[in-house]
Amino acid sequence: MTPAVRAEIVVDLDAIRHNVRALRELTGVPSMTVVKADGYGHGMVEVARAAREAGSEWIGVATIDEALALRAAGDTGPLLCWLTVPGDDWAAAIDAGVDVTAYSVAELGAIAATGRRARVQLKVDTGLSRGGATAQEWPDVVARAVQGERDGSWTITGIWSHLAASDEPAHPANDAQQEAFERALEQAADLSPEVRHLANSAAGILRPSSRYDLVRFGLASYGLDPAPGETPDLGLVPAMTAHASLALTKPIHAGDGVSYGHTWVADTDTTVGLVPLGYGDGVPRHASNAAHVLVDGKQRAMRGRVCMDQFVVDLGGDRPEPGSDVVLFGPGDHGEPTAQDWAEAAGTISYEIVTRIGGRMTRRYV
Ligand code: PLP
Repeated sequence: MTPAVRAEIVVDLDAIRHNVRALRELTGVPSMTVVKADGYGHGMVEVARAAREAGSEWIGVATIDEALALRAAGDTGPLLCWLTVPGDDWAAAIDAGVDVTAYSVAELGAIAATGRRARVQLKVDTGLSRGGATAQEWPDVVARAVQGERDGSWTITGIWSHLAASDEPAHPANDAQQEAFERALEQAADLSPEVRHLANSAAGILRPSSRYDLVRFGLASYGLDPAPGETPDLGLVPAMTAHASLALTKPIHAGDGVSYGHTWVADTDTTVGLVPLGYGDGVPRHASNAAHVLVDGKQRAMRGRVCMDQFVVDLGGDRPEPGSDVVLFGPGDHGEPTAQDWAEAAGTISYEIVTRIGGRMTRRYV
């Protein structure tokens, strides 16, 4: 007998392939599929492979370790990483043929010190105030980059930046950042990078002028909406479904409190069901008393606080069998909530829902 699966994440790789193709067709420029943070919780290696199969020219990750893990898993295509700290192993990334991102003269010095000919992309901060050379630093970074190209230290393969408010198309930061990016490109006229890129999912979909030579698609590749209320229907398919087995059911009475702190008290007799997942598995505690799940095809409200390993749902008068399928979220086409519904219940974004879910859950690919 196959043991019952306590809780699992099912990832539909056809959905990933479909989304990558749809986004690539929409923009008409090359795509970078962003698979950092274990593929936004979907599995970095599997998603990268599916994305390549669907024609994604580039893969993007945050750290050198993520890039090296992809290489170790057999990925050989164009691959960019962008978040380094002093002491990181630049040499390993360069040897693995990874494009590394640099944003300061000091970082370029560390790359030169490896003695290896690197593929380097320069990052300019156009207004997010995270990584990237500031407008003041940019001319020096460009001058050092030109010098290194001349002396054979590296090829500058890209110049890029990242937007602060692409999910709000009318936000003034979008125009301001794109203008700053244009100025930075003009100042780098002595370089001829293969790719200039600015857009993530929301900008790639909503702001055609920001597409340049490639779009870095993260969230939309997973079928989730990067700008709810703004994005047109592109037929993207959410790739992740989170399931659990119903652990038990029990009748409770009017006046009974549920879960820690009794933040929910039954006003009539009812039946509750126990879902064996909690914040230890990435179920957001902020969704307490607010999220819904699908049990045996019916939406049921969560009652009381999410605990570390479990939460409680209201089954009304019904008494489904323990072991019944509970869907926390999925594509939404069978009446189940979506990751976006959970995000709204928890006061967060769907990025956080899918990236954090996991813990003790197994992952299965279909
Ligand atoms: N580019 C960079 C530099 C990022 O850090 C990210 C993710 O946060 C992305 C692109 C992808 O963003 P999104 O998931 O909104 O498409």
